[in-house]
Amino acid sequence: MGMSPFPPDVRLVIFDADDTLRRTLVPGQPCPHRDGEWEPIGGLREALGGLPWGRDLRMALASNQDHVFYGHLSAATARRLLLDAAEAATGHRPPPWAALFCPHRMEGGCGCRKPEPGLLLRAMRLWGAAPAETLFVGDAPSDREAAARAGVRFLHVGALRPPAAASARP
Ligand SMILES: [Zn+2]
Repeated sequence: MGMSPFPPDVRLVIFDADDTLRRTLVPGQPCPHRDGEWEPIGGLREALGGLPWGRDLRMALASNQDHVFYGHLSAATARRLLLDAAEAATGHRPPPWAALFCPHRMEGGCGCRKPEPGLLLRAMRLWGAAPAETLFVGDAPSDREAAARAGVRFLHVGALRPPAAASARP
């Protein structure tokens, strides 16, 4: 088992998906709509693969999936693709209810589209985790802002990737 890259008091790790755990292979498309349209971000499995997921460390996902609203993929497919990406990055498949996403349109004013904190608050509620023991891992300014609004720590995914992988996949 590798050294945890997270602070020792973290009990719940919430991940953004796109450009954090996975990269979409279709040019101009921000998220995958089906199998074969994504690949795992390089270097993550090495950092996250031997951690006590499902025991000492709980996992959830928090992703903006407005393409569900626009009809490019179903909510069920969005959830399954998020679970697949989590499993590819960590070796652990979280429970389906922990794959949280905003299915609303971009300018809908909902409380769950990041940088709103709704998804993070829901993940903490579902897992019974306090903000002080929760960490959000993402790549975008809206991820950092969502963490701040939810009162949880933020970690940029780049900090989890070895320099070789980071430079190979800017
Ligand atoms: Zn929403």
